[in-house]
Amino acid sequence: MIEAAYLHIPFCHHICHYCDFNKVFFHNQPVMPYLQSMREEMKRTVEIYPTENLKTIFVGGGTPTALDEQQLAYFLESIRLYLPFESSGEFTFEANPNELTKEKVKILHEYGVNRLSIGVQTFNEELLHKIGRVHTSRQAFESVEAARQVGISNISLDLMYSLPGQTINDFSKTLQTAFSIDVEHMSAYSLIIEPKTVFYNLMNKGKLRVPSQEDEAAMYELLMNEMAKHGYGQYEISNFAKPTYESVHNLTYWNNEDYYGIGAGAHSYINGVRRANIAPLKKYIDSVERSGFAYLEENRVSKAEKMEEEMFLGLRKTKGVSEETFYEKYSVEMKEIFGEPIQEYQEKGLLEQVEGCIRLTHKGRFLGNEVFQAFIGVI
Ligand code: SF4
Repeated sequence: MIEAAYLHIPFCHHICHYCDFNKVFFHNQPVMPYLQSMREEMKRTVEIYPTENLKTIFVGGGTPTALDEQQLAYFLESIRLYLPFESSGEFTFEANPNELTKEKVKILHEYGVNRLSIGVQTFNEELLHKIGRVHTSRQAFESVEAARQVGISNISLDLMYSLPGQTINDFSKTLQTAFSIDVEHMSAYSLIIEPKTVFYNLMNKGKLRVPSQEDEAAMYELLMNEMAKHGYGQYEISNFAKPTYESVHNLTYWNNEDYYGIGAGAHSYINGVRRANIAPLKKYIDSVERSGFAYLEENRVSKAEKMEEEMFLGLRKTKGVSEETFYEKYSVEMKEIFGEPIQEYQEKGLLEQVEGCIRLTHKGRFLGNEVFQAFIGVI
């Protein structure tokens, strides 16, 4: 049964220097035709792959809050018309602090959005400017306040670290400011310089200085310690939550479960088939107009691939992958298939077995990618 849906709004009013997401500059884009196509894709998708009730909807981007009030209301109405969803579920909207006006927050709340994921990144004004963000730290406070006032009680702050010129002390200050806001959830990712970004070009010209690997590791250590001290449980490598506020949507991915993916460039995983939608806007709109769908490619995932995914996605979670659940899903013992990499990485001190689960050790969280790769191509 499909219990999760991801919807992609690819518009941004400003392009950040580090961003390699699927997004376009808002100006002069066919926004309403795009939203109409998404409405059609939602309708057709649920007709063909029905669900009784979604437990989680996540609207990401791009920046979903780039939409104006009228566009926002139309888009949310589409969701409520075509995606079966009960108010007890988790309905998340990604937001940029400078775009989360009182009016928009009110509209979001009226249509059932009950969780916001706010892209704060850092509370250091100079760093915000350096990474190409256009909001201020004051706007981050104001956006949380606006959300609280309409009754949205589940808020995540999204932070970044290892930014150009950032010191450990800077990051510590950002964390302390974040704690003072007292939200329910936080994520913190280290900056990765991706190709085709402003930062990538600067890096190639020798004009970008990022913190050393030692400083990056020290920031991650600080992050984990401070989160624990302030009552945020680490439930994934980069995600932390107050008790009961772990993101249901993100756990869908890490538990290797099905989800719809609606919109340009969105990915879906339904009944053992992974699909990727066409990313360019105009082509997406044309395809939905022609056929109701915009699949660019699809891949039926074999049992072997599913088992590998179960491991490298599941190991992202702090509690790791349950041997019992693995057996229930695949009718084979985890160690019969992955005994070798498990033993190798236990010996290296990066994996451990706790309460029937295989999971990363504290040291392993720093070297997650190395461990995950060991589970690919094993079968
Ligand atoms: S707002 Fe988000 S999606 Fe848009 S450019 Fe910045 S990081 Fe990328």
